[in-house]
Amino acid sequence: MTVQTAGRRTRRPETRLWRVPVRRVEQVTPRLVRVAVGGDELADFVGAGTDQNVMLYFYPDDVELPEPLTLEAARGLWSQVRPLTRTYTIRRHDAAANEIDFDFVLHDAPGPASDWARAARPGDRLIFVGPSPAYRPDQTADWYLLAGDETALPAIAAILDALPAGAVTRVFVEVEDALEELPLPVPATWVHRASGGSLAGAVAAADLPSGRVEAWLAGERSSMVALRAHLLDERGFDRRRVRPTTYWRRGEAGG
Ligand SMILES: Cc1cc2nc3c(=O)[nH]c(=O)nc-3n(C[C@H](O)[C@H](O)[C@H](O)COP(=O)(O)OP(=O)(O)OC[C@H]3O[C@@H](n4cnc5c(N)ncnc54)[C@H](O)[C@@H]3O)c2cc1C
Repeated sequence: MTVQTAGRRTRRPETRLWRVPVRRVEQVTPRLVRVAVGGDELADFVGAGTDQNVMLYFYPDDVELPEPLTLEAARGLWSQVRPLTRTYTIRRHDAAANEIDFDFVLHDAPGPASDWARAARPGDRLIFVGPSPAYRPDQTADWYLLAGDETALPAIAAILDALPAGAVTRVFVEVEDALEELPLPVPATWVHRASGGSLAGAVAAADLPSGRVEAWLAGERSSMVALRAHLLDERGFDRRRVRPTTYWRRGEAGG
């Protein structure tokens, strides 16, 4: 299938339900687990690029699921059982190897996605629906501001890959502490929550370039509100060029 482009988003490839075995589980940092799923089940998977994400489906262990489990079959079950759903970014799609990596933040409060990743073992099966359309950075911006917490790291890494060669970037990532920092293809400012740092505080303290900016922001809701307010009210950014997304809300289960 050809992936067509429409405006600033890549048009959605066919939305399907995928049920794919875990191939590998890697503890990347103390609070981040990378789960690689793969197999012939992914032979028809068409990636949408950059920050494409999918909806993970978590069913109670005692539910017997039909084979094959299609999206239609899953919807047919809704009157009896609805899965808990959580949204995750595709960190890497290797079409040749029929493999997808997901990076799961392991947080302290219980949650079906984080708990699943903490216990994941090769052979477990992950169910997901998607992929979503993906963000296409404006290739003509003078510079790019990317800011987010660790849940946004997979998207930030994928967006960086899609920027024009030599693009001017300012990247800010909020993580718990230095142990959570990950390699990125460009320099980044790492903000440590454990030391009282915040995304809005770090961006406010930074000397930013001038010119036409494209700002992509993702993370915890209150952090997004503070950062957006800073960029619009104090920096005077054009609101049409600031794209904040709430990835999670403190004290609230997602879905
Ligand atoms: C488009 C999109 C892409 C995303 N991509 C990723 C991704 O690639 N990797 C990733 O890890 N997350 C990603 N997220 C965020 C993820 O969906 C949420 O963190 C989700 O709430 C986790 O589900 P859960 O079942 O683990 O916890 P939930 O059941 O949703 O929440 C349980 C409790 O944990 C808290 N909580 C949830 N997330 C966090 C967190 N990160 N840190 C601290 N406390 C938390 C909640 O506030 C709540 O109190 C993405 C979200 C969106 C919208």
